[in-house]
Amino acid sequence: MTSLYELPGARRFEVVSPEGVRLAAVEAGAAHGPTVVLVHGYPDTKEVWGEVAARLAERYRVVAYDVRGAGESSRPEATSAYALRRLADDFERVLDAVAPEGRVHLVGHDWGSVQSWEFATTPELASRIASFTTISGPSLDHLGVLTREGLTRPTPRRISRTVEQGLRSWYVYALHLPVVPDLAWRGLLGRRWPAMMTRAEKTLGAPEPSLSEDGVFGAKLYRANVRRRMASPRPDAIARMPVQLVVPDRERYLAKRLYDELDRFAPDLTRRQVSGGHWVPRTRPDLLARWIGEFVDRVESVDTVAGAVGRERDGRVAVADLVHGKEAGARGPKGRKARRAEENRRRFTGQLAVVTGAGSGIGRATALSLAEAGARLVLVDRDGASATRTADLAEVLGAAEVFAAKVDVSDPAAMEQLAGKVKAAHGVPDLVVNNAGIGIAGSFLETTPEEWKRTLDVNLWGVIHGCRLFGAMMVERGQGGHIVNTASAAAFQPSRSLPAYSTSKAAVLMLSECLRAEFAAYGIGVTAVCPGFVATGITGATRFVGTSADQERSLREKTTKAYKRRGYPPEKVADAILRAVAENTAVRPVTPEARAARAASRFTPRVLRALARVDLPK
Ligand code: NAD
Repeated sequence: MTSLYELPGARRFEVVSPEGVRLAAVEAGAAHGPTVVLVHGYPDTKEVWGEVAARLAERYRVVAYDVRGAGESSRPEATSAYALRRLADDFERVLDAVAPEGRVHLVGHDWGSVQSWEFATTPELASRIASFTTISGPSLDHLGVLTREGLTRPTPRRISRTVEQGLRSWYVYALHLPVVPDLAWRGLLGRRWPAMMTRAEKTLGAPEPSLSEDGVFGAKLYRANVRRRMASPRPDAIARMPVQLVVPDRERYLAKRLYDELDRFAPDLTRRQVSGGHWVPRTRPDLLARWIGEFVDRVESVDTVAGAVGRERDGRVAVADLVHGKEAGARGPKGRKARRAEENRRRFTGQLAVVTGAGSGIGRATALSLAEAGARLVLVDRDGASATRTADLAEVLGAAEVFAAKVDVSDPAAMEQLAGKVKAAHGVPDLVVNNAGIGIAGSFLETTPEEWKRTLDVNLWGVIHGCRLFGAMMVERGQGGHIVNTASAAAFQPSRSLPAYSTSKAAVLMLSECLRAEFAAYGIGVTAVCPGFVATGITGATRFVGTSADQERSLREKTTKAYKRRGYPPEKVADAILRAVAENTAVRPVTPEARAARAASRFTPRVLRALARVDLPK
């Protein structure tokens, strides 16, 4: 673990709170860059940020301090000295020392995030905060409001959220016990903690020498604040600056559902999910530093700041409305669409995405949605002209950069070359959509080995090549990423008429699940998307085995008409793909029939087996 004191340009300093509490602080990194203030949690010290700070220090001025009761700072005895308003005084003193005039970018983890919510929602301090990244530490005000709603206006969702969080908070109750936590931290718990954390969190660094005392005094944070603030939460605790929420997918202490309605309390919210446990500052420093950097850069850009200020100024967003989830335009399909577009922009702007089969249908629609979100795109199709056409459209729609490539995904050498070129010219992709695929219909006995081979070469091997080549790059880079593989509802719906197609798609589904398990350790999400009947060009090029050219033409026309009548547009699949990436969904059946087939495959497979015997009309 890198110590903050070893960072380039590191300077120790001390600030003193109004009641005389001394806080040990350090600043390091790029003296003239934007200032990022890192606030640690419990039972940590500022050193928990060592690896993140080392990465940020190249471009930003990084500031971290031991909160009162921790590390090298003073440890007041009275529990009341740990009240949120005292912590806010401390933060204000740090701001006075490092940014008396300008604004800072605040990042909080665990209790550091809990108290940072207090700073971000206290008007005098909020005006000095340009952005806030919150990791594994909710606002006690928000928890209080949500708990109260759960009790006064119960719905099954609210009740289960409250119960889940109640169960996950077992340690909070334990920390309220008299004497016991002190004895535990100074005894067995203090000794065992490092081993316990290494087991639970995998790669936690060495503990701080002050761990036992940090554990004893930090417990006062809970006692001074949790019950009191949750009993009377501030209903107007709204963070108006851009807020970035980072949610670890293996979080033990917080229910993910706590954040479902966070937009009410942080209207300018960017959500990120990271593969990891509670201590991601130690286990995922690369990714965290990258996200913090991207967020800071975005907020620093004049547009965003001006937009946020304008929005605040025109007063459309009334505090009470936000608390009750009624932000102007947030309701109704139009509001939802606008909100989703904004979410997509936050998630994908500047990200590098490779989409195969981008010349038509689902691939083209996905490429265009990513273009609207401001992504950088590499668009691949065996039909070069159609890929170029998509690229032209993407450019018009606002893609940050677009490149079209004519590549057959079933050709290993061509895919290897593509991957090499992408890496050299554009870098490692953040998102890969292995979507290229072909249709084939007809009985097993009539399907020739060549037809089997071609189907598996494109539908399965094309996906394998994409996952292998780009997945390896993502792993090597160590900053996560996402892979989407287009499977099909045919992956779980057997059919006597689609043996080759269904087999190829079932293989893609299983490949995606296996890969998801393997790549989770690297923070790379994998999604299998399973559309149903979607009106695209696929039916016009589907091979109908065992038919004459005339019969095949007529079958293609008939099927195309049927798909058109069904009328499910590829844009909706693109929407589902972007959402699945944002939410890191494992399997995403898209159309209602795909969802029904997935449910039936789990609960009533016999029904699907009976349906499988129905032959396609000729
Ligand atoms: P589409 O025919 O409109 O688009 C497929 C694109 O992939 C075309 O541009 C085509 O040129 C390209 N392509 C085909 N083989 C390729 C290869 N070897 N190398 C590079 N590019 C190649 O079809 P679509 O419906 O958009 O299909 C996209 C994916 O969705 C496919 O994997 C398909 O199996 C799957 N899918 C489609 C439906 C549907 O109803 N349309 C349903 C379920 C799954």
